[in-house]
Amino acid sequence: MKAMRFVSPGAPLVLTEVSLPSPRGHELLIRVQACGVCRTDLHLLDGELPAIPFPVTPGHEIVGTVAALGPEASEFRIGDRVGVPWLAFTCGECLYCRSSRENLCERARFTGYTRDGGYAEQVLADERYCLPLPAEGAAAELAPLLCAGLIGYRAYRLACLGETVGEPRRLGLYGFGAAAHLLAQVARAQGVRVFAFTRPGDTAGQRFARELGAEWAGGSDERPGEWLDAAILFAPVGALVPAALGCVRPGGRVVCAGIHMSDVPAFPYRLLWGERSVSSVANLTRADGREFLSLAARLHLKATVQRFALGDANLALERLRSGALEGAAVLELP
Ligand code: ZN
Ligand code: ZN
Repeated sequence: MKAMRFVSPGAPLVLTEVSLPSPRGHELLIRVQACGVCRTDLHLLDGELPAIPFPVTPGHEIVGTVAALGPEASEFRIGDRVGVPWLAFTCGECLYCRSSRENLCERARFTGYTRDGGYAEQVLADERYCLPLPAEGAAAELAPLLCAGLIGYRAYRLACLGETVGEPRRLGLYGFGAAAHLLAQVARAQGVRVFAFTRPGDTAGQRFARELGAEWAGGSDERPGEWLDAAILFAPVGALVPAALGCVRPGGRVVCAGIHMSDVPAFPYRLLWGERSVSSVANLTRADGREFLSLAARLHLKATVQRFALGDANLALERLRSGALEGAAVLELP
């Protein structure tokens, strides 16, 4: 089978013929229908993640059908449609696994990073970390739910819950791409007011945000006319941390949702004063996956996608890097 492989630091992905072993234990062999292109894949290619095990196949928003079962696999049948997210394995024994925080597992493995991912015709995945998906619907439109959607939702919960202010909450989203365009739909359905921040001058991105329910959209160097209750940073730009803190009210929270960010510059303490807080989200738990996928089905979330062939993965990544995409890039297989 063919895969787009990351073979050495700084090099583009290479279309390679790979032979996969038969599935073992709880593994499934999955025929890939579509795989989302995530900003994390760019951080991988840029060497911004530690200990990359070359060569590796990126891709952790995989939609496919089960083609073969390992001897211990029992949760799915041949032909079932499944989703393979970022979290590929956890130890079940560490402090985090024992306290419902398997997203922080000390021995976790990750799809498309420390395990081969879905920029490929086929992938092997442990069924205990796969998510059931509906048989109907375009695979390419389901793929962005598997990371942009569900890790974005983990950030959303952290940003919005825990405190009620008694009136519609105001959420800032910095970087209006794959994750924000899904979360804006969730927020709107839950009565949360959305304020979208794009690269300065990106009027097309601001229009896209307004179409998806943002009541204010502007550059990240602008301020809306009122305080935000919380902000989520999807853009990997450390300078946005003090910018967002400057827009949230006392007691408000800024959540950094990416796996990597440029350095956060020094900023005056008054931006943090007033019990404002900054936190990050890391990875996902399997419970996050199940909760978000059922919410997505209930709310009929609609992913805006731009489709690319497997062999055009480098082009899709460059489009993501340059900000030329509306919504999410997805590799679609015939
Ligand atoms: Zn663990
Ligand atoms: Zn991702």
